[in-house]
Parts: sequence; C-alpha cells; structure tokens
Amino acid sequence: MVGEYPKFPQFSRSEISEQLVPEIRHWALTNGLVMYPPNPNFVQGAVAPTTLYPTPFPRQSFDQAISVQTLYNGLYAKIAQDQDGWLSKEIESLAEFDPEFTGRLWNLYVQAKEKGISQKLALGVFRSDYLLDVGNLEVKQVEFNTVSVSFGGLSTRVGQLHKFLNDSGRYSGGSGRPFYREEIPVSDSAFLLAKSLADAAHHFQASNDTTIVAFVVQKGERNVFDQRILEYNLFEHFGIKSVRLTIHEVNTKTFVDPDTSRIYYKPSGEEISVVYFRAGYSPSDFVEEQDWQNRLTLETSYAIKAPNLLTQLAGAKKIQQLLTDESILQCFISDASARRKLGSSFVKIHPMDNSEAGLSARKLALKSPERFVLKPQREGGGNNIYKGDIPAFLRSIPEQDWSGYILMELIKPKPTTENFVVKADQFAQEPILSELGIFGYVLFDESTIYLNEYAGWLLRSKSSSSDEGGVAAGFGCVDSVVLY
Ligand code: ADP
Ligand code: MG
Ligand code: MG
Repeated sequence: MVGEYPKFPQFSRSEISEQLVPEIRHWALTNGLVMYPPNPNFVQGAVAPTTLYPTPFPRQSFDQAISVQTLYNGLYAKIAQDQDGWLSKEIESLAEFDPEFTGRLWNLYVQAKEKGISQKLALGVFRSDYLLDVGNLEVKQVEFNTVSVSFGGLSTRVGQLHKFLNDSGRYSGGSGRPFYREEIPVSDSAFLLAKSLADAAHHFQASNDTTIVAFVVQKGERNVFDQRILEYNLFEHFGIKSVRLTIHEVNTKTFVDPDTSRIYYKPSGEEISVVYFRAGYSPSDFVEEQDWQNRLTLETSYAIKAPNLLTQLAGAKKIQQLLTDESILQCFISDASARRKLGSSFVKIHPMDNSEAGLSARKLALKSPERFVLKPQREGGGNNIYKGDIPAFLRSIPEQDWSGYILMELIKPKPTTENFVVKADQFAQEPILSELGIFGYVLFDESTIYLNEYAGWLLRSKSSSSDEGGVAAGFGCVDSVVLY
C-alpha cells in the first residue's frame, strides 16, 4: 500500500530566492555539500547542485531496492570470484569489441595473473541504480556499478540539509513547525562507505601496527568533497589515515617491496592496506603507458583493492545483460526465491552480438529505437545513445563492433513537477526524474564471502528533458526522499 502523495511546500519565487536558497547555500558551504564548478576555479568551491525539497518516493519501492542489495553484492562477488572462469570467458570475448578499454583492463588482469596476484582478498564497493516503474511501483535496475561509486558522502549531506530545512520550520514559512510530519530520512552512506574501507583494513594482515588507505583519484576531480567526507569519516570513526594520489603518481609516490609485494607510501613510509579507486573507470584516466603499468603495480601489490580488476570488469554492462538470462543467473544463485527477487528489478536487455537473440535485437534497434537505450562498455555518464539517435549511430560504426553494445529497454518513471533544482548561481522549477542508488559492500576471496553489507542510499534527480543523469557530468543534482 502506498500512502497519499505528499504535498510540496508552496512558496513564491521571491520567497524561495530570498529565504530558502540562501539557507541552502549557507548550509551547503558550511557542511561540505559542495563541488568544484565546471569551469574550475580551484580557489572557490560551489554549492553542489541540489533540489530545494526532498522528492516523494514510495516507501515500498524504496524498501524493495534496499532489500535486494545484499543479494546483488553476493551475486557480483561470486561472479568476480570467477567461478568456472565464466567472467574471464565473457570478458575475454568482450575485449575484442572494446580493445581500447575493456581489452586493456583484461590484458592487465592476464599480466597480473602471470606475475602472481599476492592478495586474495578483494573489496567490492557497489552502487545499484534504479528508476521507478510507475506501472507496478517496482524499482527497475538501470545499472550496477562496481568501481568508483560516488555521492555516498554528498547523499548524507543533502539528506541532512533537507532534514534541517524541514525540522527547523524553514519549509513552513512563518509557523516554525516542520512541514513534513514524517521524518526526512538521512542516508548513512558517508559513514558506511568509510566503514567498508575500515572493515577491509581490519582484515588486512599488516606487517606493522598502522596502515593507510590510498584513495586513487582523478587529476582535477570536481567531486573531491564527496571523497573527502569519506576520508574524514575514516579517520574520525576508525582512526585510519588516508592519502590521495592519481594513477599517474603511483610509480613516484609509492614503492613495492619485491620480496613481499607489500606497497608503501613513499613520503611517510607507511604501508597501504587498501587501495580505493575513485579513478581508473574510464580510458581518459590513463594518459601514458606508465599509467597502465601503475594500475598493474597496484593490482599485483599486497594491498586490498577496492575493486580489483575482475570486480571492476564484472560491472560491465554486458555482464548485466547476461544476468537477465535466467539460465545464467541460475549458475550463481541457486535459491529460486532470491532469483525472483532480483528478477523483479530487471528490465529486458538484449545482446547486440551475432547470436540469434543479438541478430533480432539489431533489427529491433533499427525498427523501434524509441523504446531503447544503446549502451557501450563505459562508465561515468555521457556515453549512451538514446532512442531516435540509435539507428544513425549504429550505421556510423562497423557492424562487427555492434557486439560491444547492449540494447536496454527504457524505464519510464513519472516526472515530479513541483520540485526546484538549485544550482550555484540559479534555481528553477522543472519536471525532474529521480534515480535511486543503493550502496553496498562485500569483502571476499576466491572461495569465501567474509562481509556482505548494505551501505546507504542516494537519490539523484535530473531534468526530465535530459536522457542522461550524472551529477558530476553536469546533468543532474543530488536529492533526498520523503517516503510515502
Ligand atoms: P553510466 O555508467 O555512464 O552512469 P548508465 O547506465 O547509468 O551509465 O546510464 C546513464 C543514464 O542514462 C542513467 O543515469 C539514466 O538517467 C539513463 N538511463 C540508462 N539506462 C536507462 C533505462 N533503461 N531507462 C531510462 N533511462 C536510462
Ligand atoms: Mg555506471
Ligand atoms: Mg549510471
């Protein structure tokens, strides 16, 4: 049962601009709900794009998404354990169609295996993303991210912001009472994602008392504050220090003991227990040959990788497509009711290869493109081809390359029309669509899963006129929920 759709507060534009928006800016700047602006002025941060109000979300759908998270964590851990070499086989053939990235990562993995992988433990820090299917109020999975999942830090902050605006009476004008009687939930992701790194560090067999966590980040990252929130939580709650370095800096800022494969941070000499990747998910993160070499160095080091190469590769969109096939899912999940639960979050995803199913999907893509989004094996937003653009795109590339794509049915959530998007220098009321992300983490080796945990949630909203949704990519904003 879903409750009544919550009412939004009603303010005039001048009230919003004179009262609420300044509140948001002060709160955001004070509490780190910030991001560097697109045209980087690295002296000043800017308020991260947010919504003015939390967006209504059905409680049962929210709970459904949370309830499948540990099933997904376990599923992807099993895949990354490479049971019967299934993942290796799939990635190896996918590598052929995407030599610039999937191929290069696969190649690194093969080299790492030859050199010897000294650390058997791996940490998966995941985020499963969903859109709400308005037909049956089920959440449907957009994608499963296994590398560099972001916004766990800012999600907590935007929830705190909305809760403050509500509980302090800002949303009810003069009355001073909360506008929403129900509590505004705040995602625990900032704490729980830090805990995932701490848990991994605690399982690490250190040569010394103290170890540090290395955050591997992109040069010029705009979303640094989201990452910093995790670093500060890691130190405050778990007493674990962290350092930040780019892939390019690995060979100058770290050294590996050739006898033990243990890796140390040069400036302090401290051992790195966990390498947490917030970079390395896109080919542009590797500029020089040395950068690929550095990724390999990290992979073969004794530090626990979050994620290791196989776990990252398990997040390929091709793997997501294959898992919608019941006979494949069955190989990883024997429990039929667990399979049903996962299956209720799937939409149809077709291969685009030259199998029988792929050949009919190729026809479908050309004939009814309006129903689909075409996805390459890429992360980070801005890579997909939508609807009417699909046929011309397909015709523009060699037909043998089509196999590197998947064709996914579009999920059609209902836009929310009454919320506002607040950006650093403007705010506007526009219809928005919201994407719910659920975080989770799993610590495992080739045969055992040691930890499998839910780790908070994230709501991102974007203008319904844009197909894409990334916040850092400039398409969306961070949001929170009012459940009904
Ligand atoms: P990325 O790894 O680049 O984030 P996604 O698969 O998440 O790729 O796609 C990017 C965006 O495209 C999503 O955030 C969502 O807004 C939109 N999108 C992706 N798949 C679908 C779908 N099946 N239905 C509707 N929108 C989608
Ligand atoms: Mg992704
Ligand atoms: Mg995405």
